[in-house]
Amino acid sequence: MKIKNFINGSFQNPVANEWLDNYNPAYGKVYGQTPNSSKTDVELAFQAAKNAFPSWSQTSVDTRSKILIKISELLETHLQRFAEAESKDNGKPLHLAKSIDIPRAASNFRFFGNAITQFSSESHESIGENAINYTLRQPIGVVGCISPWNLPLYLFTWKIAPALASGNCVVAKPSEITPVTAFLLGEICNEAGLPKGVLNIVHGLGTTAGQAIVEHPEIKAISFTGGTKTGAAIAKIAAPLFKKLSLELGGKNPNIIFADCDYETMLETTLRSSFSNQGQICLCGSRIFVEASIYEKFKTDFIAKTQQLKVGHPSQNSTDIGALVSKTHLEKVLNYIEIAKTEGKILCGGNQVIIPSFKNGYYLEPTIIEIDNNNCRINQEEIFGPVVTIMPFETENNVLEMANQSEYGLSATLWTNNLKRSMQFTQQLEAGIIWVNSWMLRDLRTPFGGVKSSGMGREGGLESLRFFTKTKNVCIKY
Ligand code: NAD
Repeated sequence: MKIKNFINGSFQNPVANEWLDNYNPAYGKVYGQTPNSSKTDVELAFQAAKNAFPSWSQTSVDTRSKILIKISELLETHLQRFAEAESKDNGKPLHLAKSIDIPRAASNFRFFGNAITQFSSESHESIGENAINYTLRQPIGVVGCISPWNLPLYLFTWKIAPALASGNCVVAKPSEITPVTAFLLGEICNEAGLPKGVLNIVHGLGTTAGQAIVEHPEIKAISFTGGTKTGAAIAKIAAPLFKKLSLELGGKNPNIIFADCDYETMLETTLRSSFSNQGQICLCGSRIFVEASIYEKFKTDFIAKTQQLKVGHPSQNSTDIGALVSKTHLEKVLNYIEIAKTEGKILCGGNQVIIPSFKNGYYLEPTIIEIDNNNCRINQEEIFGPVVTIMPFETENNVLEMANQSEYGLSATLWTNNLKRSMQFTQQLEAGIIWVNSWMLRDLRTPFGGVKSSGMGREGGLESLRFFTKTKNVCIKY
């Protein structure tokens, strides 16, 4: 498969005709090529977006909404094709791509297609001054959207949909590791009647194509999801250019389990929050803290459940854990497992899995590590694989301190039926998203984002529409 850039509504080779190999992680083999785009390609995409902006920004909200909803419907029509492509490109189980990734990409378009029809701005009457203020929220112009490989189309569209809904034109770059569904999206946008140049998709490396988007002086806002180090590099470039910046970065999220929780629901959900998508979700609860009185029981049950998970080819229905996204990533995770051998005790997993028919695939056993110190590297650094730690705690203060003792602050999960404790913990946990007695229960209207090294700004619902618009206050004296 040869992927192409989507610029001005047509599919184009990169100007320099340079290409990157695209791997199928389930086989560990190259199965296609993706453009290794340069600054020149980004410039072409920018020019197309700039030309499309005057018309798109003046297109009625109703028309924009209809086009976005049409894209959503077409994604649903082509669910199977997109899910197969996502699973093949990323290594995630096909049933996961079919039930989570692609439906959510469709929901993103539908949600923001509807949300824009409900978006309004404020007015303030200055009583005693005979003046009225009203606030305009206008599209910014050309904006940049850069996304990671773990939830490829899901996160790509989470940015693009609100940017388009609010009247901007977009230059977007998906991860070079998982470019296929973004490529397929171009076809659907044309079919849905999205005008040429409104969305432009440039493929390539972060340090070249990605950086060219961030550095572009006329791209006035950047919405980025990815690693914390990349976020810092982008912020350094964008700050002196005074760009609007939304950064959704890494996490090392605590999962806090009290003895009074609904045990079976907690156990099932903890299995998911540990290992879904091979543990490659920024919201996974990779630091599990368990109240001492149920620690031994939890440990036995959690190990037993984890050992039942089937590592297998992503296309098989029985597969719980597919392949990790790349060889480099597998090696990174295995390296942390080596560190874990000195910092803790491996309770289960820890080994690469060689599946005879797909022996070069990037498979890894789900791994549980028992530790006794929250400050060790494996509890402080983001591993981003099917690897979790467990450790007991004695008191509320003790676990709250450990939960917050982290560079990151994306999400936290709390399991308890004690209302007072829930209220205290939700107040004091340092994270942007907190789930009590659940995990990954998402309502697209809610603000999404992290604190500390997990990012800056919020996306979701009105927060996204506010991010992708510029605010102008008008004061009229009468
Ligand atoms: P990454 O930072 O390596 O890459 C993300 C994207 O940025 C890719 O498209 C990449 O090409 C691009 N990029 C890289 N360097 C760039 C640069 N200098 N300028 C511009 N663009 C550049 O991240 P990844 O490995 O693809 O994704 C995994 C990370 O993403 C994890 O840390 C994970 O926690 C994080 N993540 C966060 C969220 C969230 O919502 N907070 C969601 C998913 C993933």
